[in-house]
Amino acid sequence: MILHIDMDAFFASIEEAINPRLKGKPLIVGSRGNRMHTVVCAANYAAKALGIHSGMPTKRAYSIYSKLEFVAADQAKYIWTSEQIFELLKGYGLPLNYASIDEFQLDLSGYAGQNPVSLGKEIKAQIYANFNISASVGIAKNWLLAKLASKLNKPDGLTLIDDANFEQVLRKTSLDKLCGMGGKNGRILMARGLNTCWDLYLNLPGFFDNNPGKFEESPGKSSEKPKSISHSYTLPKFELNPRVIQAWIRLLSEMVAVRLRQQDLVSQTVHLWLDGPEIGNFGAQKTFQTQTNDGYEIYQIALKIMAKSSLRNPKIRAIGVTCSSLSEGVYQPLLSEELRREGLIQALDRINNRFGERAIYPAITVLTR
Ligand SMILES: [Mg+2]
Repeated sequence: MILHIDMDAFFASIEEAINPRLKGKPLIVGSRGNRMHTVVCAANYAAKALGIHSGMPTKRAYSIYSKLEFVAADQAKYIWTSEQIFELLKGYGLPLNYASIDEFQLDLSGYAGQNPVSLGKEIKAQIYANFNISASVGIAKNWLLAKLASKLNKPDGLTLIDDANFEQVLRKTSLDKLCGMGGKNGRILMARGLNTCWDLYLNLPGFFDNNPGKFEESPGKSSEKPKSISHSYTLPKFELNPRVIQAWIRLLSEMVAVRLRQQDLVSQTVHLWLDGPEIGNFGAQKTFQTQTNDGYEIYQIALKIMAKSSLRNPKIRAIGVTCSSLSEGVYQPLLSEELRREGLIQALDRINNRFGERAIYPAITVLTR
């Protein structure tokens, strides 16, 4: 059993929690500080109810509702909160996966405590008590179904998919709700008459049984050390600028490296995953001779993997970096500290160019603490 936790309108909820004046009012978080010339990076549920969603130009959002509350994105705050939630979840002593900045998974196989639904309720209550924001929880036999379940009763939902309701839930769930079916894959299948998840099940029954999801995560049975460490991020819109894409790979690589270092692990294999309309769901990995937990080195390898994709400059919507072949060990950096810092500074500049001054500076501070 997997218990998937998906924070509700994460960035917007954090802003509401920090500034109660905003609570319940239609609110958008902009990628940049200039409210009329940026893109909605997150919308709270009051704004979503008006038809405003992430990826939409803010100008358009304001044309829908002129009194929208606006906050410029502050990645540092979101990453910090995400890390704190991760720490809280660690307290449950179950294998835990950091799936993305606002998604976490617990592996309940081997769990002998209270029933999973009570556990889900308790986790939701804990998150709310500590951070004043809500999460939706999905519980099912595998990653794919648990993630789907988390989406079905948002916000503040708790959904269990088991053998008893499997058919009923899949029948009423549109195929594009399923992870990986939101874009081209889903459109192709829907054009062939597969409209619900149940239609997919009837055509490909094994799909829901075997598919663990995008990352073969859910760190192994009861071993304390994970088999792999991942970070992924869905961009607020399709991104074409290779410098911005590289900056995100850089940041995700650094986040993975921080987690490796926290656990005294080194990695020998880097996996890069990209998702976009032309590139589809591209994933490839590279194993190398030496071991590392240096974000800059992981980034360099990820760039080499990206060069293997057949497209030179694809539009990208989501990015994931995973390190595996992990072992414990003392790491001897191959690159001088100087070069490492140079890379850090470049990444800072790129991200700041994208999100506005000071957007990521404190985030890296958090990451390297
Ligand atoms: Mg979410």
